Amino acid sequence: MTDPNPEQEDAPLIGGIEAGGTKIVCAVAQSPDQLLMEHRFSTRDPQSTLAEASQFFREAQERYGELCSLGIGTFGPADVHQRSPGYGSILATPKEGWAGTDFIGGIRAGLESNIPIAFDTDVNVAAMGEAEYGAGRHCRNIAYITVGTGIGGGMLIDGTPIHGRMHPEIGHMVMPDLDKDFDQSTNVCPFHKSCLEGRASGPALEARWGIPGAELPDDHPAWELQAAYLAHGAINLTAAWSPDIIILGGGVFQQYGLLDRVRQKFADLAGNYWNLPPLDVYLQTPELDQHAGIVGALTMARRLIDQDDTLTQRQRSLS
Ligand code: ADP
Ligand code: ZN
Repeated sequence: MTDPNPEQEDAPLIGGIEAGGTKIVCAVAQSPDQLLMEHRFSTRDPQSTLAEASQFFREAQERYGELCSLGIGTFGPADVHQRSPGYGSILATPKEGWAGTDFIGGIRAGLESNIPIAFDTDVNVAAMGEAEYGAGRHCRNIAYITVGTGIGGGMLIDGTPIHGRMHPEIGHMVMPDLDKDFDQSTNVCPFHKSCLEGRASGPALEARWGIPGAELPDDHPAWELQAAYLAHGAINLTAAWSPDIIILGGGVFQQYGLLDRVRQKFADLAGNYWNLPPLDVYLQTPELDQHAGIVGALTMARRLIDQDDTLTQRQRSLS
């Protein structure tokens, strides 16, 4: 917790929620990169989890005054379409009890307030955090990929998250079969024979080689294959979306030297076709690390207020 910065004393109070499959982070701030108060707890059943989040915001309001807007970044799949009747709810997740949960509704009920709330995927929200305050500063088109227990990705085009019909699921991008000795019984994706998450997530690495990624030696053949899959993912994103930068994070990237290997494989695959920045700039590590999600959620809340201000100014100029 920090005391309010005197220069921002007048800035409205905003709230953010980063909802992961295992933990929830809630925070309030006046500026998204300077948290005033934060609370982390385990994700349980929806009812008690949303009640605990609401309770945190009520306490924060007692201390810092009225909350003006809230941003939520959540595990998916989720209904992120503002005009959809189900906007703000979790879709068909295997996470017990959560399918069909009205996330925004639960928070509104707990807060007894009708403040504007924005809702997006955890990875789109993390991309927004990195875009505003991290490795994607000065970029309008950003791909953010996290390689951990699963593989997720968010895309911002001209600063706006891509949703599409549902929202992208970059982790399930289909991959060529690069591993001739692959045993399908070790495939961790129940849906696809060969997708990025099924071949290159942390659990995929462990299932394939029988050793957790963190314990595989640097010179193990697993890393060449791992880098090749991730480079295929990055090249496909480049071909399909033409981002300014691809930010690669998550637990598996703690492996020393993996990012350099991905850059090398990417260079082989790219064949100088695209006019890209140097690859040590184009393929980049996150700067906000584990804070990208909560900073992004607060950034989304901040944008709601800015949009509101723009609208009010426009209405005033018309009247
Ligand atoms: P989550 O995706 O659950 O939020 P993380 O991003 O921390 O969590 O990723 C966890 C995964 O990263 C695990 O599968 C773990 O085996 C893997 N991992 C953690 N450290 C390393 C490492 N040094 N090298 C490779 N894999 C790692
Ligand atoms: Zn899959």
